[in-house]
Amino acid sequence: TTGLDLFQPERVNSQGFDLRHRPTLASIDTARDAFATHQWHAAPLTIGDLPHGASDAVRNPADFADTVGQVTWATPETVTRAAQGAERWGATPAERARILNRAADLYEAHYGEFFALLHREAGKLLLDCVAELREAVDFLRYYAAHAEGAEARGTFACISPWNFPLAIFTGQIAAALAAGNAVLAKPAEQTTLIAHRAVQLLHEAGVPRAALQLLPGAGDVGGALTSCPAVDGVAFTGSTETAQIIHRAMAANLAPGAPLIAETGGLNAMIVDSTALPEQAVQAIVESAFQSAGQRCSALRCLYVQEDIADSLTEMLTGAMDALVMGDPWQITSDLGPVIDAEARAGIVAHIQQAQAEGRVLRTYPTPDTGFYVAPTLIRVQGIGDMQREIFGPVLHLATFKSHELDKVIDAINATGYGLTFGLMTRIDDRVQHVTERVHAGNIYVNRNQIGAIVGSQPFGGEGLSGTGPKAGGPLYLDRFRQHPAAQTGS
Ligand code: GLU
Repeated sequence: TTGLDLFQPERVNSQGFDLRHRPTLASIDTARDAFATHQWHAAPLTIGDLPHGASDAVRNPADFADTVGQVTWATPETVTRAAQGAERWGATPAERARILNRAADLYEAHYGEFFALLHREAGKLLLDCVAELREAVDFLRYYAAHAEGAEARGTFACISPWNFPLAIFTGQIAAALAAGNAVLAKPAEQTTLIAHRAVQLLHEAGVPRAALQLLPGAGDVGGALTSCPAVDGVAFTGSTETAQIIHRAMAANLAPGAPLIAETGGLNAMIVDSTALPEQAVQAIVESAFQSAGQRCSALRCLYVQEDIADSLTEMLTGAMDALVMGDPWQITSDLGPVIDAEARAGIVAHIQQAQAEGRVLRTYPTPDTGFYVAPTLIRVQGIGDMQREIFGPVLHLATFKSHELDKVIDAINATGYGLTFGLMTRIDDRVQHVTERVHAGNIYVNRNQIGAIVGSQPFGGEGLSGTGPKAGGPLYLDRFRQHPAAQTGS
C-alpha cells in the first residue's frame, strides 16, 4: 500500500458492543461488577528501580464516598533517569505491528476492568466507555498497519489529557511506538490508574520496558519531560495555553527541529439554518454539546440558529434538555455524568453564575451533590465573539442570525483563531458548499453531530489555535514521529 490508503480495506475497526442487545448488557454488567470495589495502585513503570515521589488516593468524581485506588508519582529525577535508560524499539516493523495488535486484543479482553476504571476514575458513562475502548483499540490496529516506514526519531514524550484517558493516551503511544521510537508517557494526573493498566497490558503484549515507560505526575513531571535534552519530540493533547508553554520549553532545551505534535482547544460552532430538519438538529445539538458532559475538544460550544426558526427550535431544544438524566455513570439510564474534578466544576459553575447574574441563562437545572456534577445549561450570547475562552463542560451558548448575516457569522467563527470542529444543519446543497469552503476547521460535519471522529475514516485534528496537525487516526500522523533525511536537508 502507499501509506495514504485511508480506508485500509485489510483492517477493520473494533466492533464494540451493541448496547441495545440485552445479553450483551448482561455480560458487560458481570464483567465490570468484578471491579465495582476494586482498588488499583499505579506507580512509575520504568527501567530498573528509579526513585519515586509521594502517593495520593484517587477518588471517584461521581461519588465522593468511593476511593478507586492510589497513585505513586514520578519526580523530575525519575524523568531524567528514565530518559537516560530509554531505548528506541529495535524490533522490525512487522514485529512491532504484531505486538501492537496483540495489545489491542488484550485491551478488548480486559473490557470489564477498563469500563469499571473509566466509570470510577474518569466518571464516564457506559456509552462513552464503549466508544473509548473501541477508539483505543482502533488506534493500536491502525498505527500497527502503518508501522512500515522511515526511521524512528528517538525518544518521544507523550503527554495526554483526562478526557480520553484510554483512547488519546493509547493513540499517542501507539503512533510513536509503531514508528519505532522509545516513549516516555505522562498521562493526565486525574486519570493515572487507567493509563497504568494500559501500559501494563502493552508490556504484557511484548513492548519492551526501555521502549515504553510510564511517568505519572502533574506539571513538574511534564515540565521535566519537555525540557529534557534526551527527548527528540513531544506529542501533546490538552489546552492551547499548555501547548504554548511546552513549545517554549522545547525551544529552549531540545534539539532544533524536535517536533511538537499538539492537539489543543476549540471554540466550536454549529450553524442551523431555517431549512434544517428540526428533530435532526436538536438530536445533533444535544449530542454535540452534552455527551461526555461536554468534556470533548470537539464539543459544540456556540450554536447559531437562523432567526426565523429560533423560537421553535429553542423550545424543542430545552424540551430535550429537560429529559436528560444526570447521575451515576455506572447506570445505563444516566445521560450525563460528572465533570472531572473540583477545579473543573468550579470554573464551569462560575461561568454559569456570571451568565445568571447577567440574565442570560435560558435553561439550567439542580445537580446531584454526590459528585462533581454540572447541569446542562443553555446561555444566550450575541455571537461567538462574546466567548473569551473554551468552557470545558455541558454549557451551550446560543446566538441567532438573519439570513443575510450568514457570512458575518462565518467571519466571527473564523475570527476566534480556533479551528477544530464545525457543524452545519441545512437542506440547501449550495449552502453546504458555500459554508464549508469558508469555515476554518479541521473536522466539519454536515447534518449530524460533530463529535466522535472514527479512526481511519475521520482523521481528527484542528488548525490555528486548535493544533499543529497532522490529524490523529489519519494516514499522515505517523510521519511526524519519523526521521525524514530528505526533508531535513531541505530545499
Ligand atoms: N476525537 C474526539 C471527538 O471526535 C475528541 C478528542 C478530544 O476531545 O480531544 O469527539
